[in-house]
Amino acid sequence: MLGIKRTEEQILSELEKAKKEWHEKRSSLTEAEQIKFRETIRALNDEYFTHMIDGCKPCEKCGQLPVGLHQPTKVRFKETPESKEVILLQGYYEIGCVSGCQHSKGKEISGRPQNLRTFAMSREGAVDNWNKKKFFLRIYP
Ligand SMILES: [Zn+2]
Repeated sequence: MLGIKRTEEQILSELEKAKKEWHEKRSSLTEAEQIKFRETIRALNDEYFTHMIDGCKPCEKCGQLPVGLHQPTKVRFKETPESKEVILLQGYYEIGCVSGCQHSKGKEISGRPQNLRTFAMSREGAVDNWNKKKFFLRIYP
């Protein structure tokens, strides 16, 4: 796999497969096989987290590379005696400072400190927002 960048879906599918296999075979594996399995899962996790921030500049305040995550779309059902509602929680990508650096305008605007982070509907969009310093600022009601 050297030099070949895989997609999020490819990495996650392999990770899911490895975790499933781990749970199924764990008790019958030798100690050496267990170590090898855990290394495989760790390497896939590392690949995933590296992929999520691919193209990101280091944090402007602390110089560390940020961390990225994908919140997938979720469907929720809300039932009341009168109705049943389907709620779609749209997935998004989030990139934020791993050291917890704060938005300089956080307290000034919202009265609370806020982590330096950015959101977008695509990974590339979140990376772009991060690099352009379009940081998210939550406004509290
Ligand atoms: Zn930082």
